[in-house]
Amino acid sequence: MKSKDEWINWSGAVRFDDAPVPDDTTVEYIRRSGGMSEALAGDLSWSHRGYKSDIMCYRVLQLGSCVWAQADDESDAYESTCGESMWFMGDGPKENNFKYCPFCGAEIKEN
Ligand SMILES: [Zn+2]
Repeated sequence: MKSKDEWINWSGAVRFDDAPVPDDTTVEYIRRSGGMSEALAGDLSWSHRGYKSDIMCYRVLQLGSCVWAQADDESDAYESTCGESMWFMGDGPKENNFKYCPFCGAEIKEN
């Protein structure tokens, strides 16, 4: 779990839109050019292309939610938007009193 106001160095995502935090997280970030701004993580490009606009570090201002969706109808496996998965013995995250994602620390929303 990332602490909320800690600056995190960012070395670039493999995929264009691979944000390190949920899309609805508000982050403050510093570009290669040195400019600092604030935006929703899902609105930013997280890959490095050698541009002045590349994100070099960021910090979380307001953590968004982590969406958990059942992997398929047959199983009790859930997949999260932060890229993890979890199996439940029965029912889903809510019925098992999961309020926050144990992987990224964001509040869980079921899909
Ligand atoms: Zn998560």
